[in-house]
Amino acid sequence: MRRLSLLASILLLVSPVSGEEYLNGITWQAPPVVDPGKSDDSPPSDAVVLFDGTDMSHWKNGDNWPVADGVVSSGKGQVVSKDEFGDCQVHIEWSAPNPPKGEGQGRGNSGLFLMGTYEIQILDSYKADTYHDGQAGAIYKQTPPMANAMRAPGQWNTYDILWTAPRFNDDGSLQSPAYITAIHNGVVIQNHFELLGDTPYNRPPQYKQHSSKGPIALQDHGNPVRFRNIWVRELQPVQGEQTRKPYLRDGKKETPID
Ligand code: MG
Repeated sequence: MRRLSLLASILLLVSPVSGEEYLNGITWQAPPVVDPGKSDDSPPSDAVVLFDGTDMSHWKNGDNWPVADGVVSSGKGQVVSKDEFGDCQVHIEWSAPNPPKGEGQGRGNSGLFLMGTYEIQILDSYKADTYHDGQAGAIYKQTPPMANAMRAPGQWNTYDILWTAPRFNDDGSLQSPAYITAIHNGVVIQNHFELLGDTPYNRPPQYKQHSSKGPIALQDHGNPVRFRNIWVRELQPVQGEQTRKPYLRDGKKETPID
């Protein structure tokens, strides 16, 4: 009996599934092959590497941020990437000053601006208090992160960000808002959050028309936050065309689905 059921299981595993198969009728283009690199934090083969530890040549004002031992420290004035991006994936590693200095928004403050406009906060929020929509991982003045996943000062933090750029109509009105998903040290802290607009300190958020691509900027808030391993992948929509109606297939028999 036991031998019989074993045989049945093997037959189930190797025999094709009988009955109808659903086919969607879309002809997909082959997804591009991307070499993910040696480890989870190495730049994939199609990434634009903005800082690999060597120099700040990919940034405007990069000369004013000191590079040493593969790490760049926040210097005088913000740095702005020379490359511009629309929808994208961003990887950045950052470390708050150790020993910590200052309190609240004066403690390890920097920030990553998408399209030079929308800030996800970089701050030393390890056992440190500030307003929640201004702590690390906050979309500044719009929403706190869903969790505080900070590592201690001096240790390295990672942000992996998925960005959907806002779209504007020709008359300047908003067609669709920006969305952000962000992962801090492997912990989801923003999940497709819909931005209300830009992220200034002194007025409510608003959308103001800009081009479909913009730079990554890093904030100088007067605190020596350190950075390494910064790269961006532009996100392209998957390509496919409905070349026939969806249908069911059973052997040679094909039945359109209306
Ligand atoms: Mg900031």
